[in-house]
Amino acid sequence: MSSSGGLALHTKMLIGFVVGVAAGLLVNAFAADAGWVDVVTTYITDPIGQIFLRLLFMLVIPLVFTALVLGVVEIGEPHSLGRIGFKTLLWIVAVTAVAVTLGLVLVNLLQPGAGLDEAARAALMAQAGERGGEIAAQREGVSGIQVLLNLVPRNPVAAAASGDLIAVMVFALFVGIAATVVRTDGTRTFVGACQGMYDICLALIGWVIRLAPYAVAALLFTVTARLGVDVLLQLARFVGTVLLALGIHFFVVFPLLLWVFGRMSPLAFFRGAQPAILTSFSTSSSSATLPTTLKVSEEALGVPRSVARFVCTLGATANMNGTALFEGITVLFLAQFYGVDLTIAQQVMILALCIFGSVGAAGVPGGSLPVIAMILAMFGIPPEGIGLILGVDRLLDMCRTTVNVTGDMAGAVVIGRSEIAGGHAEAPPATPDRV
Ligand code: ASP
Repeated sequence: MSSSGGLALHTKMLIGFVVGVAAGLLVNAFAADAGWVDVVTTYITDPIGQIFLRLLFMLVIPLVFTALVLGVVEIGEPHSLGRIGFKTLLWIVAVTAVAVTLGLVLVNLLQPGAGLDEAARAALMAQAGERGGEIAAQREGVSGIQVLLNLVPRNPVAAAASGDLIAVMVFALFVGIAATVVRTDGTRTFVGACQGMYDICLALIGWVIRLAPYAVAALLFTVTARLGVDVLLQLARFVGTVLLALGIHFFVVFPLLLWVFGRMSPLAFFRGAQPAILTSFSTSSSSATLPTTLKVSEEALGVPRSVARFVCTLGATANMNGTALFEGITVLFLAQFYGVDLTIAQQVMILALCIFGSVGAAGVPGGSLPVIAMILAMFGIPPEGIGLILGVDRLLDMCRTTVNVTGDMAGAVVIGRSEIAGGHAEAPPATPDRV
């Protein structure tokens, strides 16, 4: 993505990262106790970071709501023949759950965010102060049977107003199902309006992300001024954990699924899928890669056209294994970083949120950031943590988008082959050999 200033946005973000870290480290080394540092963080850097985060929050509810409604409606469309829709849904939920579980297990094992000095952590939490307290209060209610009850909102508007993402998601699912079952002019207009709102949110995310370089500099200055070089080590461990988890999903989980359920040689798959893999890696956008994903699935991977169209188009916004895995690791990493203890029940809830959250994330660079900010807030983890990871996000975005798009193609192959085996579709001429 290139921005109007000439420099590509990700280059600007990297510059923001370096400037924020360098200034923060200098202050940490030479002026850690100076009074003006507090003034700068309180009146300049903190507000800049906050504005960016608020803009992200602003988009979450409309984005997630419309994305989920549209996803359900798409699955229920008559042209999806129900059967393909059902298989796709199963694939999305099951494989995404595997991805998030993988991420959560690794982040618990490797503890990339642990080990921060207690005093420094307390100072950071104090700075996040009010917001943390406000949110921690919501967190109290999230335990045991309450988790289940909270799934169903008593009042969807109140749920949206209080940032109760999961209740909003459940409501969106119900609305989507009803909009699919009841087909009137009115419901069609409503679905069209959802599409319009979704498109608007995508455009707004694009604009908000342009502010990221300044937010990155501001947020990183605040953290490194307080914590010094330690924070960079933890960030490196975070990047390592994400790349390891994405690597396992890409090189182990996908090949296994293709082998077992698609009877396709993983090598043949990767060879055929290469153009889409490279496009997703370089664009960091599932949506921008969609034309290539479709072409490759039909022409090189032998997926029947009807299946490829449905699975890949829906998958570009709804099936995001890499994003879900990344969301899970990021939330737990930042919980470790800020010393927020999460119970097993809360981690299970995070798992569910990441599955739905990946459906709600937009297929554009940085599309998952609003959802992550919201999940952090729900669990009393300071959303300022987003600033920490933004500086290194471009590389991670490239890698997770590659996993997202590869997951769409793997799903298309597995579902396509099951349709062919069931006699519901014809194999196109280019079908690679079965194993
Ligand atoms: N860039 C990702 C995609 O387009 C979404 C994200 O995780 O930010 O698939």
